[in-house]
Amino acid sequence: MTGSAGTSLSTFFKQADFASGNLVAVLTTQPLDRLLDYKAPEGGCSVGDFVIVPLGPRKVLGCVWGKGAGGFDLSKARSVMAVLDCAPMRDEMHQFLTRVADYTLTPMPAMLRLATRAPGLMDPPSMRKVFRRGAGQPKRRTDARDKVIAVLDEYGGLSFTLRELADMAGVTPQVVKGLLPEGVVREEEAPRDLPYPRLNPMAAGKDLTGPQAEAATVLRGRVGAQAYSTTLLKGVTGSGKTEVYLEAVAECLAKGRQALVLLPEIALTAEFLDRVEERFGAKPAEWHSGVTMTERRRLWKMVGTGDAQMVIGARSALFLPFQNLGLIVVDEEHDTSYKQEDGVHYNARDMAVMRASLCSAAVVLASATPALESWVNVQAGKYHRLDLESRYGPAVMPQMRALDMRIDKLPANRWISPQLETHVRLRMERGEQSLLFLNRRGYAPVTICRACGHQIACDHCDSRMVEHRFLKRLVCHQCGETKPMPDACPSCAVEGKLAPVGPGVERLAEEVTERFPEASVAVLSSDLFGSARALKEQIRTIAQGDTQIIIGTQLVAKGHNFPNLTLVGVIDADLGLQGSDLRAAERTFALMRQVAGRAGRSEKEGLALLQSYQPEHPVIRAILAGDEEGFWQAEADERRQAGVPPFGRMAGIILSGPDVQEVFATAGQMARATRPLLEIGAQVFGPAPAPIARVRGKHRVRLLVKAAKTAPLQAALSRWLGGVRVPPNVRVQIDIDPQSFW
Ligand code: ADP
Ligand code: ZN
Repeated sequence: MTGSAGTSLSTFFKQADFASGNLVAVLTTQPLDRLLDYKAPEGGCSVGDFVIVPLGPRKVLGCVWGKGAGGFDLSKARSVMAVLDCAPMRDEMHQFLTRVADYTLTPMPAMLRLATRAPGLMDPPSMRKVFRRGAGQPKRRTDARDKVIAVLDEYGGLSFTLRELADMAGVTPQVVKGLLPEGVVREEEAPRDLPYPRLNPMAAGKDLTGPQAEAATVLRGRVGAQAYSTTLLKGVTGSGKTEVYLEAVAECLAKGRQALVLLPEIALTAEFLDRVEERFGAKPAEWHSGVTMTERRRLWKMVGTGDAQMVIGARSALFLPFQNLGLIVVDEEHDTSYKQEDGVHYNARDMAVMRASLCSAAVVLASATPALESWVNVQAGKYHRLDLESRYGPAVMPQMRALDMRIDKLPANRWISPQLETHVRLRMERGEQSLLFLNRRGYAPVTICRACGHQIACDHCDSRMVEHRFLKRLVCHQCGETKPMPDACPSCAVEGKLAPVGPGVERLAEEVTERFPEASVAVLSSDLFGSARALKEQIRTIAQGDTQIIIGTQLVAKGHNFPNLTLVGVIDADLGLQGSDLRAAERTFALMRQVAGRAGRSEKEGLALLQSYQPEHPVIRAILAGDEEGFWQAEADERRQAGVPPFGRMAGIILSGPDVQEVFATAGQMARATRPLLEIGAQVFGPAPAPIARVRGKHRVRLLVKAAKTAPLQAALSRWLGGVRVPPNVRVQIDIDPQSFW
């Protein structure tokens, strides 16, 4: 239990940078555009120290950034109130935050907030009572008392909470307390934040196959070198990428450095935790939105002192104050959820590479379907690449075929073609599972009035409301607003004419139960589960094989293993190809291949059938042909010609506000002041109403800036935006390398 003791000692022996009373500059988490000067507290303080400072009547969190600028009446300077008992910010983190700020054009206070997202950091460390063996001997002996003593003796010097000790001994807490007066048991105060159990990197992993072992050796070498490198680990789902990068984690831990594994989907972490525990004998620390506040604080502090060896987390884990980070794994590196689209707009994959380069760490980007950016970086020699060609065990990539939907015209409100139906039946006869994939939550995407043609829309957004029959409500997928399904049309007031148009998974489930009344069916859609635990339970049940037909959204495309699944039917393979998104082709390609990859993960051969109205579309053809390298090459060529990422640079500017005219006026003003952008050869498009022109009652207008890859875009953007006066009611967001264009 070294934890906090180690930290206090090191601060104790270190000479403070600033003696008491000297002026220091403090960066606070408050939205101010400058550093604030304070007097160093009694005992002094140093650059990087996390501090509490007074700001007006409040106490706020800050970090000592350097020497104070002064230049004002020093007697007016206020003092730092306290230096927090936690590891100071390292120079490397300071650099990282500054560089992310420069890249994303984010003010530093927002960066500091991102780096301290653990509530209660300013509170004194909380203590709790623990019990351990004392020197005394019991005057009176009973069975129950002997049990307590036996536990304490067995575990040597360890201490327990009252509950833990009583439970382990199988006695009531009274028995433990009764041993206190005789000194048999001692009661002490200990910090509430207990260290994490140690992971054992020397524990043996699975016996790797030849190609896996080769890849693992290469990765171990890169991690062991303790120098920056990025490796794209590409391999179909099930090829053992996770097994291989856990070897890299083992190497990292053995070197005494910390490892971070980023995962895109919270729902997957439970399964992943078990795997890590199996591999290293203990669970790693977890960082995501489902973790309690106390846990977050504990993790934040322990990461800083090096007591958390391994963290698995969502993208914001990248901003944790690691003491000695040696490896970052970005699993499913192509996943769009790595791009934060609110507040600080950053892409965790790219920022992981930046962070690793600052602390001599290795990066592993794992994916079955890498992002085009990563593929291009490999081609350019910036990243290494390792391929795991085949699946672990006898499984092979499924056969893939398109079902031409123009041939068999389906009756209204039917989405399963006769051919697909036949295949599902065949699987049922064989006792195997089928997955019907439709990437649309809810019952129906549109509700239309058959009397007047009105479509029910959200009151606050420029989007249609989606019927969710399971919830018995209409839901706006934009803002989350819900309302009951009305009896009468809100526009023409005619009753009983509202009808659903198009399918969501719930409606598809209805068709499935009609056609296969004897089948056992499960629907996997994120909104149908109250908790990650419930979802995990459902997945476990399905994996055991009782479910015959699984109906799922995007959720099923990720990592779950269903050994008895041999057929995947994609209801609408064209769905992702619509829209103006730059990455539509890339995403459809990736998603279809991932979904198809769900079939045949065991000995049984798999089949994937893609229902499509345009089977000759180049993307559909590429998916079927499985010619990945060809697909990437063609995509890359197209983007190079268009001068778009990753061959050119883009920035989205989104203005929003309650008053549509004011928003447009501000955008118009920006469009007339683009000189700094034109000077670097950039082009400016817009202003135009955003594709979703109203969200939560705010009107949205977009501008798009395009520049050459080498142009100093950020500096020009700063100069440009610095020259425009933005009214208080209008919010301006800058999105460098935008992923979505809504
Ligand atoms: P990926 O991350 O590429 O999807 P995983 O590492 O999750 O692949 O491997 C898929 C499944 O195969 C997992 O259940 C994993 O435990 C198992 N597996 C992979 N390689 C081996 C191996 N060498 N020995 C035993 N099981 C393995
Ligand atoms: Zn809405």
